[in-house]
Amino acid sequence: MFVSAAVHGDELNGVEIIRRLLTLKNFKITKGTFIAVPIVNVYGVVNQSRYMPDRRDLNRSFPGSDKGSLAARLANTLLKEVVAHCDYGIDLHTGAIHRSNLPQIRANLADDVTLELAKSFGAPVVLNSEILEGSLEAAATCDTRVLVYEAGEALRFDELSIRMGIKGIVNVLCYLKMMPSRGARVKKATSFIADNSSWIRASASGIVANYFNLGDQVKMGDVLADIGNHYGKTLGQVIAMKDGVIIGKQNIPLVQECEAMFHIAFFSGPSQQVSKKIEHVEQELVVNTESSEQLL
Ligand SMILES: [Zn+2]
Repeated sequence: MFVSAAVHGDELNGVEIIRRLLTLKNFKITKGTFIAVPIVNVYGVVNQSRYMPDRRDLNRSFPGSDKGSLAARLANTLLKEVVAHCDYGIDLHTGAIHRSNLPQIRANLADDVTLELAKSFGAPVVLNSEILEGSLEAAATCDTRVLVYEAGEALRFDELSIRMGIKGIVNVLCYLKMMPSRGARVKKATSFIADNSSWIRASASGIVANYFNLGDQVKMGDVLADIGNHYGKTLGQVIAMKDGVIIGKQNIPLVQECEAMFHIAFFSGPSQQVSKKIEHVEQELVVNTESSEQLL
């Protein structure tokens, strides 16, 4: 199994997840092979940029080729030298710049093996991903089952996202019996699988007064934010069109009309349960765990 981070060079939580995971005293692989690639897009990390120096998005450059652009060559090298040797993989991402994601797993849930793997991670929300052309996930789907972990914001460390990432990787390794399961780890985590998701967009351009956070439950008709001008006049409201849970949001308090503001996941069951579960996981990870060591 491989775990990769910083395919997008400004998405740093995954770098920290792998760095901490590898130094945990109890982290021991007893079966199979674990390959950690803490920084895939080295150029992007150095430049604090999502992209490659040739301005290409590495996660749109797979499978690449050994004679193509810099992005194509790096994509191809990772695919041939790492991904092709693995049965499973977890690619660690964050929201784009100025956007935060609630910790979530995205994967091709039409495949039963991938679905079970996604559930074993233990993130509160699992989404069926549209597989983007040129992504690592798209290039790997035939022989390698890949989960994408999305958590936090670009260029920031988010403690909850990091801890959930470490715990999730360990959960998957235990599920695959590459690490021995002990005590608490056996307790199966429940994930809520979203039917689908969509972004709610700004209804006006202006200054944002935001009333909701990541993980909050929203009901149809809720006012998620007001958008006003700089003299205090309200210009528009951002309203939830359906019940769901906020799994992504933009963080800049200024928007242009039609800009994506809130990413909402929709569930068949009551979304209240999902919100409660998220709160519970947050408490467990942040309040009850003083060090990453206790995650094992
Ligand atoms: Zn990314």
